[in-house]
Amino acid sequence: MRYHESIIDLVGNTPLVRLNKVAEGISATVLAKVEYFNPGGSVKDRIAIRMIEAAEASGALKPGGTIVEPTSGNTGVGLAIVAQQKGYHCIFVCPDKVSTDKINVLRAYGAEVVVCPTAVAPEHPDSYYNVSDRLVRETPGAWKPDQYSNPENPASHYHSTGPELWDQTEGRITHFVAGVGTGGTISGTGRYLKDASGGAVKVIGADPEGSVYSGGTGRPYLVEGVGEDFWPTAYDRSVADEIVPVSDKDSFQMTRRLAKEEGLLVGGSCGMAVVAALRVAERLGPDDVVVVLLPDSGRGYLSKIFNNEWMQDYGFLDEGGTEAVAVDVLARKDAQEH
Ligand code: PMP
Repeated sequence: MRYHESIIDLVGNTPLVRLNKVAEGISATVLAKVEYFNPGGSVKDRIAIRMIEAAEASGALKPGGTIVEPTSGNTGVGLAIVAQQKGYHCIFVCPDKVSTDKINVLRAYGAEVVVCPTAVAPEHPDSYYNVSDRLVRETPGAWKPDQYSNPENPASHYHSTGPELWDQTEGRITHFVAGVGTGGTISGTGRYLKDASGGAVKVIGADPEGSVYSGGTGRPYLVEGVGEDFWPTAYDRSVADEIVPVSDKDSFQMTRRLAKEEGLLVGGSCGMAVVAALRVAERLGPDDVVVVLLPDSGRGYLSKIFNNEWMQDYGFLDEGGTEAVAVDVLARKDAQEH
């Protein structure tokens, strides 16, 4: 019989898929590492396992303990799955702007979710930061992974994502492109690929325009999961050779093309990373192999990036383009009916 002992044995070893249509006219090979094949649907399953196993080994997390983390997204799902399989309880703290669908996913996996008001100052006792700190202090056996400062976050990529890419490309990878959020993916994977290639592999970060990594101040942008307004310690500034800033509009238009033209229903940070990868690949030749990491699936963004009205409201659909025209027709029909 061929089977796995538990769902967490399926984390990692995600496939590499060539990008064809969106990379037309580019002579380099552009490959995507598709992380939605992880059981929790994102790259964050990798860090969840490693952070939890390191905390078990150090004694920071004891049998029956509680994991407390301020997260609403992919990291929460990864932690929730690993925690339930290993018998831990999870409490996640999220701001009230998070969609009920995302909160319900975490609850479906058995986690407790505490929702905090967004409209209060960080020093207010009900703020996201204060509530999670208080929960850690007041919950017996609580442990906070803190993906932004936990060295096991980049280490998970040094020990899994990096070696997988080196092996899958038979050492022929020349460029690695990834979005930067906590910085764990680019720092760990990038460091491994540089070590394995004697420094030959170039590492490129993709960043939303306005975020600190590409020289901004943290100005708001809509791409989720990437960009910051501070410098996390999980990010090793010595790894990336270049940071490419990408606009929300370019990120979301590419995200939609990946679904329509490559059959890849992925999230907005994936579109962003592909825009950066193609900008790099345009400068390269036929011997170059560019790998871009796609962190999650598009299922979590159906009412935003994959919703024409939402795209149109933000001016992300091209004026006069077929999708923009379709929205106008729907709006006119709506007006006639009311
Ligand atoms: N994209 C998405 C959707 C994410 O959730 C994250 C993680 N915050 C990233 C990209 C960036 O990965 P990292 O935190 O490893 O820099």
